[in-house]
This record gives sequence, structure tokens and C-alpha cells, in this order.
Amino acid sequence: MNPETKRSLKKEGKALAAQRSAAWQAALTRANPAPIGSDAWMQNHLRARVNEAWFAEKQRDHISAIEASSRFVLISSEETGQPEPYAECMSCHDLLYSAPKKAVTCTCGSLSVSAGKRPRVSALTEFRAVRLIGKGIA
Ligand SMILES: [Zn+2]
Repeated sequence: MNPETKRSLKKEGKALAAQRSAAWQAALTRANPAPIGSDAWMQNHLRARVNEAWFAEKQRDHISAIEASSRFVLISSEETGQPEPYAECMSCHDLLYSAPKKAVTCTCGSLSVSAGKRPRVSALTEFRAVRLIGKGIA
């Protein structure tokens, strides 16, 4: 690798890291927009914990779009730079777990994930892999 290529890759890497960091910051701000340290921030934080407890209480193979938007802020795998466990149907915005106990299909029928050792995603529409962040505001 020549020094110019190395410099160029280093620059691209730094830009990507900055982009991901900004995406995380934006998602966390959407989840709790109140100023850190304020009473409003703490109330939002406690509400976000309730939503995260709801999420953690059992494996949720299918989360409806309404439930998802009221409880969570979503961040895509492109933004996190990591594989993420849920697939979001870009038509109806339901979320399907990528390793479900039983085969699952979204409300509009465009996205489904099979069960078993090697689950498969079947999509008739666009979808994206997402992470769920507990939301502190309605
Ligand atoms: Zn759908």
C-alpha cells in the first residue's frame, strides 16, 4: 500500500467514525431531547427505562409499527456500523426479529423471517436492519 492510499483510507475511516458518532448522538437526542441534568431529562430517562424493560421482558419476534414508534427510536445498521437484530419493513414499519421462535410476517405481508437454525428474510419491499433505543417522549 502506498502512502497516498494509506492516507486516503485513514481519512475515509475518520469520516465514517465521525458520521456514525453523529448518527448515535442524533438518535440519543431524539430519544431524550431535554437538556441533560434537567428534571425533564430525568422524567424522559425513566420513561425510556420503562420502554426498555417492556422490550427486555420477553423475546419479541414481531413489534407493530405503532408500538415501535411510541416506545423506540430506531438506528440503522449503516449508522451503527454493526449487524442489528431487527428488520424494519419500509412499507408498514413493523419490526421483525431476525431469529424468531416461529416464522413471522409484518402487517402488510411484504417482509417475513423464517424460524429455525438458519432463519431467512424474505422481502417484497425494502427493509433495513435496526437497533431499538428506548424513547423517553411520546
Ligand atoms: Zn410490512
